[in-house]
Amino acid sequence: MNRREFIGTLAVSTPAAAAAADEQRPAGTPATSEPRPLTITLLGTGTPAPSLERQSSGYLIEVGTDLIVWDHGPGAHHRLIESGHRTVDVTHAFFTHLHYDHCMDYGRLVLQRWDQGADRIPDLQVYGPPPLARMTEQLFGPDGVYGPDIRARVEHRSSLDVFEARGGKSPRKRPAPRVTEIHAGSTVQGNGWKVTIGHAQHVQPYLECLALRLDAKEGSICYTGDSGPSDTIVELAKGCDILIHMNHYFSGTEPTPAYRAACGNHRDNAIIAKRAGVKTLVLTHLLAQIDQPGIREQIVHEIQQVFDGKVVWGEDLMRLGLSGSRVSTIEPGQQE
Ligand SMILES: [Zn+2]
Ligand SMILES: [Zn+2]
Repeated sequence: MNRREFIGTLAVSTPAAAAAADEQRPAGTPATSEPRPLTITLLGTGTPAPSLERQSSGYLIEVGTDLIVWDHGPGAHHRLIESGHRTVDVTHAFFTHLHYDHCMDYGRLVLQRWDQGADRIPDLQVYGPPPLARMTEQLFGPDGVYGPDIRARVEHRSSLDVFEARGGKSPRKRPAPRVTEIHAGSTVQGNGWKVTIGHAQHVQPYLECLALRLDAKEGSICYTGDSGPSDTIVELAKGCDILIHMNHYFSGTEPTPAYRAACGNHRDNAIIAKRAGVKTLVLTHLLAQIDQPGIREQIVHEIQQVFDGKVVWGEDLMRLGLSGSRVSTIEPGQQE
């Protein structure tokens, strides 16, 4: 391999799972120009607790030609790559709240996308509650955490050589995620999809906590973020095809009433799903203490005594497909 060939290989970065043909695809171009079916992949179904089996919160929605992440906690981005997708193909990111188990991989997403994208892809569009704009500036601004790194990559000749090998044209731009701060009641209109933002009951007033609902022609998906039992979740999730709900506690084991109010329990979730009239309930944000044989089955069984839709025990890399307003496929996660 000569130097030119070596530099050429720097221009391409693909996940191991990507097909060989995919490797020649320029950054920012989807694998196919055909609109994809609506799917959601669970990237992280765990909690703040370190785990190899369950990464912290993250979800990936493929809708039309857009690739949207909902929350991006530690480990979620690793799962995104494991799912066969590329960092550069993510178009939008939404955050429900700024607990670190929902946003710690934001830095990774923005920086790796910027680096590999080489100024050839649109800026990432980012939505979340305040102080998301301030956090973004404090991460990526000139005086931010990554300010010195970004300056080195934008100005040092060696970094610019790699940037130009990736197809970039100097002068190199800094990463500039386009942040829009959102609140309960906000809506975000995309190409063939709409996200409606609702109120989640969690750790106010310290953090503004939101829930998300996406509607597209193939169906609807609601995600509670972190939330205890709340009428606002029932209202937001009304009639949706998939409700992804935090299921942190086995009923009765919450340490205090404050925990129950902020995080709920499995019986609370059964009532929410029933009242909202959703078709499929996906349980997530699962503590290791309840993620045990026998307990899993008991939780699902007890929820089904109240809620007559489908109940799914979420796992990292599980992928659900929606068409005609019904869950048409559920592919299990690929746990090692
Ligand atoms: Zn959480
Ligand atoms: Zn939280």
